[in-house]
Amino acid sequence: MTTLNTRPIALTEQPEVRPPQVRTGPSTLSVHGGRQPNPYHSISEPIVQAATYTFVDTEDLCYFKDQSLWGVVEDRYEYGRYGNPTIRSVEKRLACLEGAEAALLFSSGMAAITTTLLTLLPSGSHLVITDDAYRQTRQFCTHFLKRLGIACSVVPIGDYQALEASIRAETRLIFSETPTNPYLRVVDLERLADIAHRHRVTTVIDTTIASPLNLRPLEWGIDLVVHSATKYLAGHNDLLAGVVAGRAELIAPIHENLDMMGAIADPLNAAWLLRGLKTLGVRMERHNRNGQAVAEFLEQHPAVECVWYPGLASHPDHEIALRQMRGFGGMVSFTVKGDLDDTSRFVDALTIPQIATSFGGAESLVSQPAVMSYYELSSEERQELGIRDNLVRLALGIEDADDLIADLNQALSVLRHYQ
Ligand SMILES: *Cc1c(COP(=O)(O)O)cnc(C)c1O
Repeated sequence: MTTLNTRPIALTEQPEVRPPQVRTGPSTLSVHGGRQPNPYHSISEPIVQAATYTFVDTEDLCYFKDQSLWGVVEDRYEYGRYGNPTIRSVEKRLACLEGAEAALLFSSGMAAITTTLLTLLPSGSHLVITDDAYRQTRQFCTHFLKRLGIACSVVPIGDYQALEASIRAETRLIFSETPTNPYLRVVDLERLADIAHRHRVTTVIDTTIASPLNLRPLEWGIDLVVHSATKYLAGHNDLLAGVVAGRAELIAPIHENLDMMGAIADPLNAAWLLRGLKTLGVRMERHNRNGQAVAEFLEQHPAVECVWYPGLASHPDHEIALRQMRGFGGMVSFTVKGDLDDTSRFVDALTIPQIATSFGGAESLVSQPAVMSYYELSSEERQELGIRDNLVRLALGIEDADDLIADLNQALSVLRHYQ
């Protein structure tokens, strides 16, 4: 349920006149969710590029301060780091998309993750994260937080007994991604939330790879959801941003720290993100279709060893994915028959996907994780992290599936001596 108003509010109308609550689908929400009236009645949200805000007189300022103390300020701002109308519009839309009471926008996904964890974890506490995690997130948890006296256990994803066994008296938080990168493991969120509730531990889920169109963790009992909005939410490989969403009481202290630590988004980026969000529904439909078609093609190809895609019956978490997700996204990971160099030759032979890290934009991207993300590690160290030399990560864009498949087919022919 959400408040949706696509009609401009006449200047003579009382601002407290609210439109009726209507039930809406995710595509409608990505276009209209949290829409605010604006003084110009412009169809696109105004970009308020301002570092500070003015007050008419001291009475106006005192009124603002009193309202702030009561927590009832909606449409006034004091200083750029504490809030901005364009950023507020994105936050409202993202909250609608996640079914959350509140959302906060950050300068990057890592800013959202680090500010959230630093807020929720006092010194002397402990957190549990699942493996197959985004490399910087894992490093932050196991190295940076350690310096602050915060301990971290890494448990194998999908092992719920190990997860529960790792919880201690001082455990405050469980952090997991779903689907994970690069093996697209899917966490049973109901089960994870149940374990966390029994131990009174807060749950934070990074579901960047699903987007709220495919998965809404809060519906499965999760406390907070984080995203790198750089990926599917923005959708065009042209900006960095991050988001955290959840209950207002959990978001409030994170907001205070964001105001202080300052990893705020930029108003212009927020406007671009709003623009990107409007097509989230149609983009995700195409990413989902391309993902499924390419995964099915790869699975039957003789030069391909193994394919990981939650939409394939062969994926270890297919059943959970079917139950929990509306679609399986545009990321497909697979191993080819060949060594490190053979795999690089295959990657180099592709013409549509470009060699780049990241995902979620219109353009298909390809990376060989052993080279792209773990270059400085030895083959053995990579093996330990589960990164095989012949692993390829395809981040499918919104091109035509037939073209992508034809391109993969011609590139795989460089491995023909293995077939
Ligand atoms: C990209 C990514 C991040 C980091 O986000 P940035 O916007 O690059 O800071 C975190 N988690 C996942 C799953 C990601 O894919």
